[in-house]
Amino acid sequence: MSKGNILLADDNKLVVKVTSAILEGADYDVIVAWDGLEAINKTYTEEPDLVILDIEMPKINGYQVCRLLKDDEFTRGIPIVMLTGRDQQSDMFWGMKTGADAYVTKGFKPEQLLTVIEDQIEQSRRTQGNQKQRDVPVKLLDESAVIGRVIDLLDSKLFESTILNELGALASVSQDYRGTVKSVLEIIARVVGNSVGVVLMFEEEAMIIRLNRPTKMEGLVHIQDDVLELARGHGWELANPDRIKVSVYGEEYIRESKEQAPERDYAHIHIPLKAHDRVAGLLVLSNYASRPLGRTAQSILNVIQNQVTIVIDNARLYEGARQLAITDGLTKIHNHRFFQELFEKEYNRADRYNTIFSMIMLDIDLFKNVNDSYGHLCGDEILVGLANLIKSCLRSMDTVARYGGEEFAILLPETNGSEATYTAERIRKAVEDYVFDASDQGLRITVSQGVATFPSPGIQGRFDIIAKADEALYQAKDAGRNRVVFKE
Ligand code: GH3
Ligand code: MG
Ligand code: MG
Repeated sequence: MSKGNILLADDNKLVVKVTSAILEGADYDVIVAWDGLEAINKTYTEEPDLVILDIEMPKINGYQVCRLLKDDEFTRGIPIVMLTGRDQQSDMFWGMKTGADAYVTKGFKPEQLLTVIEDQIEQSRRTQGNQKQRDVPVKLLDESAVIGRVIDLLDSKLFESTILNELGALASVSQDYRGTVKSVLEIIARVVGNSVGVVLMFEEEAMIIRLNRPTKMEGLVHIQDDVLELARGHGWELANPDRIKVSVYGEEYIRESKEQAPERDYAHIHIPLKAHDRVAGLLVLSNYASRPLGRTAQSILNVIQNQVTIVIDNARLYEGARQLAITDGLTKIHNHRFFQELFEKEYNRADRYNTIFSMIMLDIDLFKNVNDSYGHLCGDEILVGLANLIKSCLRSMDTVARYGGEEFAILLPETNGSEATYTAERIRKAVEDYVFDASDQGLRITVSQGVATFPSPGIQGRFDIIAKADEALYQAKDAGRNRVVFKE
């Protein structure tokens, strides 16, 4: 009894003779094709259980035959074994890239070939349930039709790898998380032509929306809700949808009320973003329902799914690590390193564009006594409370950092010396009045502060500013503490 039909495509008579003999000796029926075109047509008409392809054949080579058969849903499931005289690594690589299932070099031992064939046929029979059945009669292809299809396939492969390349290139650009997501959505929009792109990451509870054409903002709330609905479909439950941080054009976006938003009918396509085999978020593309995105758009999404996930996940990890590196572990405000980076940027900006800025150096008065009397833990609690209290006295553009032990530095962009002194005074008063809840007791502290500003007559360069603020701080201590000194 026959173990199955095998199509053997090779232009070399000797190879065909020898290989046929081996196959027939092992109870397979052999169908021979002498070139690539015949191999394609016989695959359709004979529906073999397996195809053996020579790489170098007249008319159409084995790689192209393989690509074509693997692209067609009716022939995709038929295992293809590549057979060639060369055993170069690059042949093997390219053979696999075109979708071949196995690879055997000529000069094989008969049992080697037979083992491969048996394995492949057995494997494909196990998954045969998935195989599409043809319900229309086969139309034989002529040479130019086959070449046309091969070119189309190559073109779409090139298209795919160009998008994948562009997305991959983002991984090497150091951008923050939001910036990366925005760039991803931008590339996709250029290719797909969607008017709205959304990335929702479950863990971050963050939704980033990019509007591509001049799309109306009103009605975005409907998209948000649709995306949340899709997320629920992937098993993600959220206690309170209002908690989701939404950003549009990279800016925080306040969720509008649904009553006010005009009803808009959107059609969406989406793919889950998977990290470590788990759905970590969604990528959703939308258009008005009157112009829905089609199958091509969905297939592009499928192609880029992995790449998008990797790029976004990397940006997330990178940002997490970066946050850790610039945050003070105790107070959770920025640390010394971040302050130095920010200070340098601000100084360069002021120097180049003739803008002004100020800084405050702040130190807790007699903090050693607090530690000595109430313990180090109590001191820590005060440091945390103080960091929050200072923050509450600042504008959103100002930045406070823990500069060292019980010393804090504050950067105030576009602020002159007297305005900064005013802010420092406000902090001084707030601290003086505040009762810190540390180790279950109400404790009071005071702080001394030195203020410096740029530009200023006494300041030549970047380091002079910090030195001046320090000097001013020491004068404040000398003059009896709990005060602000401004030095020009
Ligand atoms: P002055 O008014 O002159 O600044 O007096 P001071 O006691 O605050 O200054 P000094 O520099 O003598 O002591 C600083 C104290 O701050 C000593 C140190 O134990 C405490 N300190 C620094 N970092 C921390 C911290 O992370 N936690 C706690 N609990 N204490 C800290
Ligand atoms: Mg101190
Ligand atoms: Mg000190």
